[in-house]
Amino acid sequence: MMNRRVNVVVHGDVKPIIPLFCENCSEAFSSSIDVEAYERVKVCRQCELAFVERDRMSWNAGVRPTPVAINEELLRRERLETARYYARISRELESEGRDKRDERKRGVRSDPGP
Ligand SMILES: [Zn+2]
Repeated sequence: MMNRRVNVVVHGDVKPIIPLFCENCSEAFSSSIDVEAYERVKVCRQCELAFVERDRMSWNAGVRPTPVAINEELLRRERLETARYYARISRELESEGRDKRDERKRGVRSDPGP
């Protein structure tokens, strides 16, 4: 395999490059909220909340979370996401049930039989 070097010359205003992934937790940046956090503290918004804002003095002094702490934070996010998912599903099922009850009251069927 051949290694080729490519030089890129950019003219005009250059916007700072925002990485695709957080350098702290390795999660993908997903929104402008992450980009804004990156511009402030060079990590995603979740990491800003979990690590920077929790102890800004240490962060500013260069202290970074251990891999174990990052793993715990990732697990916490996963649990939160799962909880949110089930909350949404149960809300949807509940409103679906409510729609069906309303339809029965009005005497309409939501799903026409064969
Ligand atoms: Zn992060």
